[in-house]
Formats: sequence, structure tokens, C-alpha cells
Amino acid sequence: MMAALLSSAVITLTACNSKPQEAGTTEVEGTTIEMPKVDVNRDLSQFELKEEDTIREMEAKIEKKYDIDVVYGNDIRTRFDEEEDDLRATVYTDEAGIKTALQTLDNALKVLPRGLIAQIADPKRGILKIYLLGAVGQGENEPESGAYPAFTDFEDRELFLAIDISLDGFINPPDILHEMTHVIDFKMQALGHLREEDWNKFNPEGFTYYIDYEKYYKNEIPKDYSYTEFHYVPRLLEQDPNDVYFLYNYAEINAWEDRATLLEPLMIYKALGNNTIAPDFYTFPHIRAKIDYLLKEVTNTFELNAEDVASWKQSLEKMSSK
Ligand SMILES: [Zn+2]
Repeated sequence: MMAALLSSAVITLTACNSKPQEAGTTEVEGTTIEMPKVDVNRDLSQFELKEEDTIREMEAKIEKKYDIDVVYGNDIRTRFDEEEDDLRATVYTDEAGIKTALQTLDNALKVLPRGLIAQIADPKRGILKIYLLGAVGQGENEPESGAYPAFTDFEDRELFLAIDISLDGFINPPDILHEMTHVIDFKMQALGHLREEDWNKFNPEGFTYYIDYEKYYKNEIPKDYSYTEFHYVPRLLEQDPNDVYFLYNYAEINAWEDRATLLEPLMIYKALGNNTIAPDFYTFPHIRAKIDYLLKEVTNTFELNAEDVASWKQSLEKMSSK
């Protein structure tokens, strides 16, 4: 079963293909899922990256800081799904590019509350692996830079997030955070949180997700409930605030794309310090109800650092005030 979640660079549309597990099922059959013990209050200052760090030093710091395994150069996997030719990757070995990618990876991941990533590890697959790849291909064609900028597969033998760094190590931080949202989301569902019947209460009366990604690409999903017409473009739609339920119609494909796009403006604000992507988005009543519920579920599921939680709430309040 293929379950890749893909997202593209800023300015263009996010593209995700995904078939994760059924909501509420456990990811390890016959086993109780354990939450790894994590000290969410530990001091991370010793892991600050420095200009003079070698690649290996950067890698070691990032791995310890986030409890992840970073894999790059000749150590990467080059096939991410045995069934699918289009997730065939090439190797990227340029040292300057890898350094750039590691720095951006750190800048993106530090937006998430301390210790959160460590808690998505599972007994069967271990800690999250982050692959820094060369170009990732499509079908019969040669791998193509930017075709699949970032993806994950929840049903893979490993828990991973793969990122194309073939363009001189460039990574778009929102792409990493969008995919991280999926990884966290699936863990929450596996633990029995984020039940779809609860989530659906926040959607319009009688609404069901379109499920099929193709419908989105064929432009068959209406925009009546959307905040904006396309990803990362200014709002031109004029729906009544009470009729807005989604960032844009991509969010209507399924609940996890809805939740990932819902968090994007907030995560971008935390990573890049700007609120230009979707001004006033969180002032819309159904949007605010959704994000309040989602963040509450996150804090109920994971043990989190209190300061980090407060900082997220503060950012949300700032973005929600006119
Ligand atoms: Zn996605």
C-alpha cells in the first residue's frame, strides 16, 4: 500500500498523495503502543549549530536535539516504495548543499514543541528518519528535481520523512512542517485521538471529504468553503466568514490535509516570523474552532514543554486578533 505525502515548494501548490491507516487503528498489530519517555524540559543550548561545525558535527547535534536519525549522501535509501517507480531517489553528495539543508532542517524543526518528535517513535520502526535526497523521479522518467520535494509513508517499514535537496541543498521550511504535521497526525490517530467523527463536527452540515487526490488536480473540488483560491496567494474570495471552513480546497481532500493546511500559516509564522500567507485566517469562526480543537488534542496526546505550548498559544492569539 502506497502512502506517500508530498508537498511542493512555496508559491506553487502543495501536492500530497496519501493513503494512511484507518483512523483509530493501531499501527503495531497486537502490541500496545508505548510513548517513548522524553525529557521535554532538557536544555538544548549545547545543540545550537555553529558556523564552524563540520557536517558530522551538525548531524550529531540535530540527531540528539530532536531524537531523529538524519541520513544523507550515499547512506540514503533510493527506493521508497517497492510498488512505486515514482518514488525512486538519487544520491546527493555535495557538502555545501548538505550543510545548507541541515541548517534549514534545524530552523524548521525547532518550531515544534521540544520532545514532540521523539514521541512519534514507535516500538516497531524506531525513531523518525529524515532522508536528505537527490532528485526524486516519476514513473519511467529520470528523477526530476522538485517533482516530490518532501514525502512520508505511514505504512513503510520505517518511520521517515524524505526531502529532495538536489537544488543546492534548498529546502522550503513549510514543506518539512507540512509533512511533520502528517507524521504527528497519524501518530495521534494511532493512539485513538483525532477521531474523524469528532473532527467532522467542525465541517459544514452534510460535508464529506473528496478523498480522491485526482479530483483536486482535475479541479473538481469547489471553493465555496475556502479562505483562499490557491495555496500561498492573497485572499480574493469573498465568502462570508461564517462560510469559511478550509484554507483552500486542497484541504477538502481528506482530514489530514485539512489539518496540515490549517496549521501551515501558524507554523510559517513561527518559522519565518511573517503573517502574510493568510492574514486574518484564524479570525474566521470555524477555522478558529478547528485549530483550538486540534491544538487541544495535541496537548492531550503528547507531553509537551509548557513554555513551548504557551508560545504557540500566544502566536495563535496574535494571529487571531485584528
Ligand atoms: Zn499533505
